[in-house]
Amino acid sequence: MEFYEHFTISAIAAIPAIYLIYGFISPVFFVPLWIAAIGFGTLIDLDHFVIAFIRDKNFKELKLALKNPKTVLKNNNQALDNLIPNWSRYVSHFIILAIIPAFLSAFNQDLSLLAFSMLGLHILCDIYRNSRNLIEKRYRVQS
Ligand SMILES: [Zn+2]
Repeated sequence: MEFYEHFTISAIAAIPAIYLIYGFISPVFFVPLWIAAIGFGTLIDLDHFVIAFIRDKNFKELKLALKNPKTVLKNNNQALDNLIPNWSRYVSHFIILAIIPAFLSAFNQDLSLLAFSMLGLHILCDIYRNSRNLIEKRYRVQS
């Protein structure tokens, strides 16, 4: 799924998630939590660069992204997703889903729950998008 899609979905889903976890809180607390929630929901995809580094043993993908960030932000699917198999992205996403909330729970359980819900939503969106792409590909091949 593309960065902008994850960003939009996270920005929308974070609002009820924060209210469910924290109740009605003042905007002074809400806004930083909202920004953090969007960060959890979108920045998890930075693991693509780690996977690319482990695979290639160089920073080629990261250098390409830094040279032309718009391309990566606009079309993360084509820039990286085609190069990295789905299973390795899911494995790294699930590792992040396990580690970050567990780490945060030592300090703040509400923030840990928010991180878990936003990271989980990101993974669900990735699964949805990849299965939809697979179905579309199969349908195109058959017709
Ligand atoms: Zn992802």
